[in-house]
Amino acid sequence: MDYSTLNTWHKSQKVASIKGRYITINDIQPLLDNLPTLFSVETLGYSVANRPISKVTFGTGPITVLGWSQMHGNESTTTKALFDVFKWFDSNKEKNAVTDLLDTCTFIMVPMLNPDGADAYTRANANNVDLNRDAQDLSQPESVILKNLYTNLKPDYCLNLHGQRTIFGVGEPAKSAIVSFLSPSQDELRTVTQSRKIGMSLIADMNEMLQEFIPDSVGRYDDGFNINCVGDTLQHHNIPTVLFEAGHYPGDYDREETRTLVFLSLIRIFESVRLLKSKKNTSSNPYFTIPENKKCFFDYLIRSIKLPVLGVVDLAVQFEETLENGTLNFVPKIHQIGDLKEFNGHIEVNYEGSAPINKDNFDWKEGVIIEEIQTNSSLPTTFSLKRNDLL
Ligand SMILES: [Zn+2]
Repeated sequence: MDYSTLNTWHKSQKVASIKGRYITINDIQPLLDNLPTLFSVETLGYSVANRPISKVTFGTGPITVLGWSQMHGNESTTTKALFDVFKWFDSNKEKNAVTDLLDTCTFIMVPMLNPDGADAYTRANANNVDLNRDAQDLSQPESVILKNLYTNLKPDYCLNLHGQRTIFGVGEPAKSAIVSFLSPSQDELRTVTQSRKIGMSLIADMNEMLQEFIPDSVGRYDDGFNINCVGDTLQHHNIPTVLFEAGHYPGDYDREETRTLVFLSLIRIFESVRLLKSKKNTSSNPYFTIPENKKCFFDYLIRSIKLPVLGVVDLAVQFEETLENGTLNFVPKIHQIGDLKEFNGHIEVNYEGSAPINKDNFDWKEGVIIEEIQTNSSLPTTFSLKRNDLL
């Protein structure tokens, strides 16, 4: 597979009707209703607030790959990428690369496991339960739907598709963790079992491909064992499972760049699965060369600004994503004030000890909205923190 060609294809051919961060069942239902005959769509059940949860099946091969996205409602990037994958398969269904995949594998994808959370733009479902901590309790209808699906299917591989916040970085000096992966643990000791090893080798393949596009910006997620997480539970049942975390590409708060990278990763993992002739002899070592995710980024980092009472400090600002009348806003709020030299900003400015002006009565504390800073500094005298003014 030529991933440069695939990248070019994606930029011009991705599904145009879904974009940005706020993706709901109203966006994807028309797409599901109009999928070509290559795909069969079936409603698996309904969410707490009675929204449908559907699976999309394609391919006829013996290897079964089960994936689901948006089990956290506000993590929509992988849902967008799944619909792009569907379009790519259909657009290229005469080509060998695609027929090989369809003849070898059967793909079962659930493009929005938590439609209520998607609608409310929340991580949790309508009962305020985190579905990725409900794998044992199975207290929510969405959790039962997923459990029934994997119990009946007995998939060979599972893909747990998520999105991560802008706070994650990798490497030294740190870069944004644009995409991160995990082959979850299946026991407290984090034993590298055969099932984990397979997940690791699949991740190593995706990482190798991604390095061409985003060097040093792929991360490895924390592998602490938690049986309440779906991935850990599946791995515990010896089903190789890969967690995807679609992260922040600098400047791209709509996550359209990351969408492309997730699309490429999905095609790459499908190809790896097809070629993984033997489940033995898979090497896990390249996986451990991927740097671990660390929480080291803020959306904005204003260094060495002189504030009343506090003196010269660093100021971190994070966007708070809030839904208002169906529109998603990115509200810049003070997140932390202090010595933040260990941290990075996706956008940074250094005021070199100068004080802000025109903010005499401003309440410099965490949680306060801040949209603009002005100083007498020779550096940017007016610094906007509004998303629409970025770059
Ligand atoms: Zn998530």
